[in-house]
Amino acid sequence: MEFEFDCWCCGIVCAVWGKPVGFWKEEYELAAEWDCWSCGAVNITPDEDED
Ligand SMILES: [Zn+2]
Repeated sequence: MEFEFDCWCCGIVCAVWGKPVGFWKEEYELAAEWDCWSCGAVNITPDEDED
């Protein structure tokens, strides 16, 4: 499943792949860091809000 995050540097939307790891519930493992495809800045994956 792909998640979309805004690059902190240029603000463009980047798609980050999350590997499905949950068995009983939907849970995805995302890379802690990823490079913006547009400007190349390293972004930190924000923590998911739990509610
Ligand atoms: Zn960027």
